[in-house]
Parts: sequence; structure tokens; C-alpha cells
Amino acid sequence: MGKHVFIETYGCQMNEHDSERMLRLLEGVSYSETKEAKEADLILINTCSVREKPEHKVYSALGRFKKLKEEKGTIIGVAGCVAQQEGERLLDRIPYLDMVIGTQAIPALPNLVKKVEALGQRVCETGFDANGEYLKTPLPQKPPVVGSIRLVKVKSYVTIMQGCDRFCSFCIVPYVRGRERSLPSYEIIEEVKDLAETGVKEVCLLGQNVNGYGKGIGGELGFSELLHRINEVNGIERIRFTSSHPADLSEELIQAFTELTKLCDHIHLPFQSGSSRILKAMHRGYTKESYLEKIDRLKEVCPSIALTADVIVGFTGEEEMDFEETLELLQRVRFDDLFSFKYSPRKGTRAAQYEDRVEEKVKQDRLTILQGIQKEITLQKNQALVGSVEEILVEGRSKQSDRDVTGRTRSNKVVNFEGDLGIVGKLVHVRITKAFPHSLRGETA
Ligand code: SAM
Ligand code: SF4
Repeated sequence: MGKHVFIETYGCQMNEHDSERMLRLLEGVSYSETKEAKEADLILINTCSVREKPEHKVYSALGRFKKLKEEKGTIIGVAGCVAQQEGERLLDRIPYLDMVIGTQAIPALPNLVKKVEALGQRVCETGFDANGEYLKTPLPQKPPVVGSIRLVKVKSYVTIMQGCDRFCSFCIVPYVRGRERSLPSYEIIEEVKDLAETGVKEVCLLGQNVNGYGKGIGGELGFSELLHRINEVNGIERIRFTSSHPADLSEELIQAFTELTKLCDHIHLPFQSGSSRILKAMHRGYTKESYLEKIDRLKEVCPSIALTADVIVGFTGEEEMDFEETLELLQRVRFDDLFSFKYSPRKGTRAAQYEDRVEEKVKQDRLTILQGIQKEITLQKNQALVGSVEEILVEGRSKQSDRDVTGRTRSNKVVNFEGDLGIVGKLVHVRITKAFPHSLRGETA
């Protein structure tokens, strides 16, 4: 009988995709996924250390799974950024932990599991991989069939690069994910073609700074050229990417939004702060003015473009005036959605040594004010779509009702509407009838 793996994932899309890669590798050695930890023979916690809060979650998750280890001997592993950062220390601290799998050790996972299973060894693999094996993604499995319906996986992430060379002063990523490495374009295009053959209609290209794609590989395509090639792959209907760094956002990429029919009209362009003084301390490589110029250019070239971003409040040294500038930027750009965070000092980063930290209460107050303003803007933006007809890629059953299906607009907004599972994977036109803070309701047009 096959064995079961339960994977708990924290953090960004990169981690979500890494969990998927781990699952594909484990499927090759007789594991299948379970959504119930108590049914699992192997539990993997894929962790994030970008802020303190997600980092702490790993320890509470381990506490929850301790009982399963005692009762059933379940193998327990920690992967991702905390694994990379803590290494052997995790094994010392958690006596019932079997495996520590660093960010570049994913290809070694099947062998590590075998070692634990056969020899009862505790293992830790956190070296950086010079051969670039960690960049490769195993082939996807054929989609399962339930009754007469093939449960098509409609969209997929595709990692095009890993790591980061930008070293923003607040960020741990370059230390736990290593330096920027791109995957050769022919491998990416092959992967996209393979995905299209399994029924995938939408790909989201992943990297910490996709605009830096191709750096360090002689004669490689640039990011915009890569998008052009993917636009030609038969079967793929939509292309997205994340994240894009404002300092590296080229005119060529901006133009791609009008040139490429499959490139969706949405860009995630983190700004982090609306104060040029704080941006300098963050080592971001752009000013408020140059960020706004790029936003204006994007809106000019693609008026329907949806804009989302990340922002940090309470960065060390942030004064009331700096925060006011962040709020002004919000009102000026009117983002469709925003991911907002309180600054969380990370050991080993440059900003962790900065003095003049902002008090926790001030950080929380600023976050509450900012989120209140953004909530209004997001709702207004959603309301503005009521009455319009949007192209939706149908992804599957809606969680809210089994009469409804769910999908996304080209601008990445969730839309629920009545429909049967036969239209999953299809592009359909839907009239928007109602707007909510996080989704839209519609009916087929
Ligand atoms: N590479 C992406 C970029 O530059 O846009 C961001 C990757 S990071 C995993 C995601 C977001 O986490 C960042 O955009 C930033 O807003 C937030 N973040 C990173 N380090 C942080 C820290 N020390 N404290 C609070 N938020 C942080
Ligand atoms: Fe972190 Fe900056 Fe790299 Fe993004 S660009 S991953 S924020 S160092």
C-alpha cells in the first residue's frame, strides 16, 4: 500500500510551488498527498522566515504534530527558509524532528526520506547547490478523473529563477534563498508546453525579481523576450508573473502589456514605502517619484491594468511625515489590493542594526489606518466593475456553494457565479452583478 504525505505551507507563492515540487518528487517514491495530518506517514512543514510571525508558526506546528510522532512514529520534516536559516540547530532544539531540508535541497528529498525510513537517521541538508539541480521542477502528474470529469489543473506556477541579488536592507531572502539563478529559457518553455498538454491554461512565472531574469547566463533571453516566447505556446491562454521590482521594470516589459495577447492586465509592483528617505534606507534603488512615473506609464500603456503591491509600515526611522507620504501614494495610485506588513527586524540583515526603532503600538496604529484606507479603495474598485462583462477562466467549484463555480478576471479578481463543472478550464464571459471586499459575484453573459 502507498504511503501518505501531509504538507503544511507558510509564506509566499514560491513556497507554495516548492511544496508542489516536493509532492511531485515524493509521488515518484510511492507517496500520495493527504489533507489529514493524522493519516500521514510523513509530515512536511514548509516554512517562511521573512517576518517573525510566520517564523514562529513553525514551532507551534511542530508542537501540534509531536503527538502523532509519539503515537504513530510519523516522520516529520521542516523545509523552506527557516530550515535553511536554522539548519542543525532545529534538530538540536526539536528532539522528535527527523529532517531539515534547506531551500536548495528539494531534489534530495526522496533520498533523505529513504535514509530516515531505512536507517532511522536524522538528516539535515542545507548546502547551496552549485549545479543548479534545485531549479528544476519535476513533471506534473496526469490530472485525476472523478466520474466522467477530468479534474483539470487550470493554472500552475512556473519557477523561472530563484534567489535574489538585491539585498534590500530589511529582507532575509538573499540569505536564505541564495543568489539569483535563472533557469535556461528552453527548459522553462518545455515545462510550459508540458503543462499545456496536461490541460493547464494559465501560468504564473515566479521569481523574487523576475525583471532580473537571464542574468548570469550568457546569451540568454531577457524577461520580456521570455514572455514573448511563452505567449506562443499553444494551449496556454493566460500569462502572469510575480514579483517585479520597480527599479528594474523596463519600458520593454511595460510595452509587453499591449503587445502580448495572453499577458493578463495585472502587475504586482511592491513599493514598500511612499517616502524617498525611507526607500533609501531600505536600499530599494528607486524614489517615490520614479515609482510613480512607472505607474503612470503602465496606466498609459494599459489603461485597464490592475495594480497590487506590498508595503511595510514602521520601518526603523519612519516618522509620521514618511507614513503620511505612504498614505498619499496609496490615494494617488489607488491600488486594486495591497499586502501590508509591520516591519519585523530580521537577524543578519543590514536594517536589523539600524537604531531608532518604531514602537510596536505606533506600527500597529499605522497599519490599522493604512488598511482602513485600502479597504475602501479596494471595495470602490470592485464596485466600479458592477455591470461590466469580464472574461473569466473557470478554476473549479466555489467554496461557498456547490451550485457555483469560481474563477478570476484577467485583472486577477475572484468571481463566483452559477455554473457546472463542465466549464472548468474554459474562458467564459460573465456579467458582474455584485461587489464584495474580496470577490465579485456574476452571471454568465
Ligand atoms: N521579491 C519581492 C519584492 O521585492 O517585491 C518580495 C519578496 S518578500 C518575500 C514579500 C514581502 O514581504 C516584501 O515585499 C515586503 O513587503 C515583506 N517583507 C520582507 N521583509 C520584511 C520584513 N523584515 N518585515 C516586514 N515585511 C517584510
Ligand atoms: Fe527581498 Fe528585496 Fe530581493 Fe524582494 S528584491 S526578495 S524584498 S531583497
